[in-house]
Amino acid sequence: MANENRVVLKMSGEALASAASDETIDAVTVERLAKEVAQAKSERDLELAIMVGGGNIWRGATGEEAGIDRTTSDTMGMLGTVINALALQDALETLGLATRVLSAVQMAEVAEPYIRRRAIRHLEKGRVVVFAAGMGNPYFTTDTSAALRSAEIEASILLKGTHGGVDGVYSADPKSDANATRYEHVSFDEVIAKDLRVMDLTAITFCKDNALPIRVFDLMAPTNLRRSLLGEPLGTLVS
Ligand code: UDP
Repeated sequence: MANENRVVLKMSGEALASAASDETIDAVTVERLAKEVAQAKSERDLELAIMVGGGNIWRGATGEEAGIDRTTSDTMGMLGTVINALALQDALETLGLATRVLSAVQMAEVAEPYIRRRAIRHLEKGRVVVFAAGMGNPYFTTDTSAALRSAEIEASILLKGTHGGVDGVYSADPKSDANATRYEHVSFDEVIAKDLRVMDLTAITFCKDNALPIRVFDLMAPTNLRRSLLGEPLGTLVS
């Protein structure tokens, strides 16, 4: 049974970067996101776990194209997510939020290991959990990892924050097709049949199989993160 107050937020690594600066991690952007988390936590009895990506630092597939062994390259990507997780933890703790980074790759000096029961215990105590290193396996993405962890910890919804300026799921690519319209609700089957690119296919089919709803919203528009954490129906619901 899903816990209504328990939510997993998937945040791409690029959401921590900034279009305005060349920084891999932009302190102003991270602070803004952390503030919205803190506001939402103060307004609602929220159990929040954040799966952070690593695309601002490294992507496994990019390294593979350059000739790096895929599993090595994916490990590099996972380590990138740990850097992002620590940046996020720092910003959240600066605002007074108790935060724990749980890493799927063991690094005892830096983060706790991911242990499901421990993650749930942290959430019950009101701590923000930041999942680092995805699920710890190469060939997977942090989208799929977010879906997996959502199911494991019995979250009620997976909030997928986008960073590319698209505020939900569209019938076609809104950047190239003027007739594209945004869905308020779309089924898993339609997303899969039309290849609507909400998340990678592995993540989508996992959510479908486990009846885990996804809300896709624009993470970069101010106040959107807070509002989505409060349960406002922003963007598109996939269920
Ligand atoms: N990665 C992995 N296994 C996982 C999660 C991530 O191998 O369980 C690697 C993969 O190489 C991926 C990189 O980490 O490209 C960064 O994650 P992702 O691309 O999902 O980050 P995002 O696009 O969300 O920033």
